[in-house]
Amino acid sequence: MPRQTRDRSRRADPCTLVVFGASGDLTQRLLMPALYHLAAADLLPDGFAVIGVARSPMSDTQFRGHIGDGLEKFAGVKLMTTTRKWLIERLSYLTGEFDNPQTFARLGDMLARRRRAGDGNGNGNVLFYLATPPTVFASLADHLSRAGLVRSDARAWSRLVVEKPFGTDLESARELNRRLRAVFAEDQIFRIDHFLGKETVQNVLALRFANNLFESLWNRDRIDHVQITVAETVDIGGRGGFYDATGALRDMVPNHLFQLLSLIAMEPPTRFAADAVRAEKTKVLQAMHAYDRRTALTCSVRGQYRAGKIAGKSITAYRRAPNVARDSKTETYVALKLFVDNWRWAGVPFYLRTGKALRARRSEIAIKFREAPFAIFRDTPVDRLAHNFMVVSIAPEEGISLEFNAKVPGPHIRLRRVDMNFRYKDYFAVEPATGYETLIYDCMIGDQTLFQHAEDVEAAWRVVQPFLDCWSRNGTNGLDFYAAGGDGPRAAEELLTRDHRHWRPIAAGPLR
Ligand code: NDP
Repeated sequence: MPRQTRDRSRRADPCTLVVFGASGDLTQRLLMPALYHLAAADLLPDGFAVIGVARSPMSDTQFRGHIGDGLEKFAGVKLMTTTRKWLIERLSYLTGEFDNPQTFARLGDMLARRRRAGDGNGNGNVLFYLATPPTVFASLADHLSRAGLVRSDARAWSRLVVEKPFGTDLESARELNRRLRAVFAEDQIFRIDHFLGKETVQNVLALRFANNLFESLWNRDRIDHVQITVAETVDIGGRGGFYDATGALRDMVPNHLFQLLSLIAMEPPTRFAADAVRAEKTKVLQAMHAYDRRTALTCSVRGQYRAGKIAGKSITAYRRAPNVARDSKTETYVALKLFVDNWRWAGVPFYLRTGKALRARRSEIAIKFREAPFAIFRDTPVDRLAHNFMVVSIAPEEGISLEFNAKVPGPHIRLRRVDMNFRYKDYFAVEPATGYETLIYDCMIGDQTLFQHAEDVEAAWRVVQPFLDCWSRNGTNGLDFYAAGGDGPRAAEELLTRDHRHWRPIAAGPLR
């Protein structure tokens, strides 16, 4: 059963972490540095070990060297020798193909040896982490089952961590859920979204539900609209093969952006416990309006970057990138206008946008409050009053700010927009983190609060599916191009100007 408390003062349960895809980018760049940070915070148990599994032939020593190099590069801190040694000594490696039953038989032997060795994980708790291409998620679960490696009894647990993307459309997400749930119970499956490991994202819950100040304003009577932005300066680099088959909508929207939306829009849970929080998030996703294809077309914008410059560096056009079709219609930018059909949010648009090769890196949730109903200040019509935005900034800087009108000093009544800023780093020592620390720890203690339920995933794809359908019918028709280093396609601005609204600038923010 999922644990209902979030006691972070204790070490995680003894377990073996089996990482499928251990020679890959995610493992070296994010997972292992996160384990290092957990070890440094003394949150990993004595009975902890990692077995990495992948195709590349490597000995234990070579694997340890590969991960050690990664820690130096990606941990973001000067490594402590004792912690590094503690972690590296716990790593071993198994070379094997994921479609070969022998791989799983050998893995079973390694796990059994660990249990017999009495190294503190005598019960045999195992966390299987699928850091692999999504195409093998379901078959890996089948193989684990056939090899008898999945347990869930009073003595030991087996859990499964699944990376994104979870499916490529509604049908494939349902099928993946079905196959994983044939092997693992829902409370053993942790569908990870590393955005939810970020402090600011979790702080949305604290902001809303630990402060009565804001909650009374949090509804259609006071809020005009919400903007959720995840803007990246990076282009697709060497990931053309993956990206051209995926696109910005699938890659970012049903997971990261919808998770942010659900935290902003959810009703207060009865308690801060996995089942209560997840139930409220699921209700929001289920209340999101799914358009018919025609409306989906008018409420969406897709763009693709052309050549341009970012911070003085030349960026080649998306279609010229390696492993990308020269006539690709894959979007590298998407903007959507969405609604949540419930009592609290009826009629309040949620505008979402995300893209690559943009002017600046910026992730934020901006809540625009309604204008004052009447401007009492002489010569200041209501449409010249600055807008009241509350901005939850996730990157590049974490914090929360409130923008409001203030009087400029002097004998005349003049108003100007000012900002009230809270920056995380001004109040708290923010340790370097990958975003995976909290999530991996939560998997080890069985806390599913920050993970997606099967129903969330399917509800999200239900909303995304009409966009996929109408875009695939339209081919390149409606694909807008934008220069790398710009703000995105012009049609994205029009999506809001049609509603007499504007996006916040990507580059300039209140926290800077
Ligand atoms: P990589 O391509 O770098 O790594 C894939 C890993 O899977 C490699 O270790 C590869 O082994 C192994 N593998 C693939 N097929 C087989 C097979 N048939 N048999 C044995 N091993 C196999 O991918 P990433 O690490 O970038 O991504 C992994 C997952 O994490 C993906 O689902 C991705 O969407 C997700 N993700 C990645 C992020 C990132 O920043 N990298 C961020 C968020 C999610 P080998 O190379 O030895 O053949």
